[in-house]
Amino acid sequence: MSTVLVIGAGGVSSVCVHKMAMNTEIFSDIHLASRTKRKCDAIAESVKAHTGNDVATYEIDAEEVPAMVNLISKIQPSLVVNLALPYQDLPIMDACLEAGVSYLDTANYEPKDEAKFEYKWQWAYHDRFKDAGLMALLGSGFDPGVTSVFTMWLKKHKLKTIRTLDILDCNGGDHGQHFATNFNPEINIREVTAPARHWENGEWVETPAMQVKTEFDFEAVGPKNAYLMYHEELESLAKFNPEIERARFWMTFGDAYITHLTVLQNVGMTRIDPVKYQGKEIIPLQFLAAVLPKPETLGETTKGNTNIGCIATGEALDGSGEKTFYIKNICSHEAAYKETGNQAVSYTTGVPAMIGSAMMVQGIWSGDGVFNMEEMDPDPFMEMLNQHGLPWTVEELDGPVSF
Ligand code: NDP
Repeated sequence: MSTVLVIGAGGVSSVCVHKMAMNTEIFSDIHLASRTKRKCDAIAESVKAHTGNDVATYEIDAEEVPAMVNLISKIQPSLVVNLALPYQDLPIMDACLEAGVSYLDTANYEPKDEAKFEYKWQWAYHDRFKDAGLMALLGSGFDPGVTSVFTMWLKKHKLKTIRTLDILDCNGGDHGQHFATNFNPEINIREVTAPARHWENGEWVETPAMQVKTEFDFEAVGPKNAYLMYHEELESLAKFNPEIERARFWMTFGDAYITHLTVLQNVGMTRIDPVKYQGKEIIPLQFLAAVLPKPETLGETTKGNTNIGCIATGEALDGSGEKTFYIKNICSHEAAYKETGNQAVSYTTGVPAMIGSAMMVQGIWSGDGVFNMEEMDPDPFMEMLNQHGLPWTVEELDGPVSF
């Protein structure tokens, strides 16, 4: 039985709060605060309709640390679940430290003026959380999050060491729009327009964005082009598995998405530096995000499946030589919408955020300091994935990937 405070009221938050309200034996008292209270109220209304349970709502600017400290002190939760944007990670961590409460998020801190996707700023908080006897768990979404736990599960149960790792993220859903992103457009476009980076022989290898691609036949989706990208879990996976020779991340994009993005990039609409317009400074990408469809509105029209997983090759635990395993989850957009009113990209992030929170508030995962998912026992988390809507499968492949 525990009290939680969730920050942010987008698609991911909506799924997480619905799932928490379906598990009141773990989350007995749920509070939701965000910049726009109306969005919190809409989630609370939907939760009431779906589960019959109440969610208390508040308006907060999470970048205002004193206001956050007041809110946390008033509610006295055992955990603050940050499902706002990466820009708010550090102010929310500061507020947690001041109010003496543990912290969880799904995406690493981003400075507003640079697309970096690095853990260094949050790892620098380790000693402060440790000294305060508090825990901060970073990246409890799907990727990062489940992909990190999948990898560590393989390393616990199948492979002694991992030589190569490929993370394959496919969204085979169709939302019927010309161009829309499935999670926050600003963060999504910053991520895909950044140079690709993968880990090879102890160093980062950089290639231009969206240049290296492979075709892969995804179960429950079909063949798709997957592009090499940088993704933040590569940093923690390489740190906690120093034996890895090569770790790569691939994401699928349709031709229409690539064409739209290329045009937007060529005309300067994805820039994150300020531009003077009619005497006012605007950030082109923020303006673009404001005119694109909101991810939380895509649920009703999105059809198809997501398929996200990891292929790892390494020395088998049982001493039988080199083996390759593929571990993945397939999630239906329609089923996710029916259960929570949100499409599968929000669902596959919001459910692991709920599970990570459950691990922490029940003391199944514990520690003083700042932790990544790779540092925790994968088994109880994997069990909850099966029970709460993200079942996974593991199979042995004939050999390492050929791409
Ligand atoms: P949305 O843009 O739909 O929602 C973000 C929410 O945060 C909005 O409600 C927004 O408020 C709120 N917010 C923004 N700024 C502030 C602020 N200063 N104070 C309080 N609230 C604020 O995003 P998503 O739900 O799609 O994504 C949420 C998070 O999940 C992001 O950090 C994203 O990077 C991460 N993510 C992680 C994934 C993973 O697998 N690990 C995958 C997908 C997403 P308002 O309503 O006023 O705009």
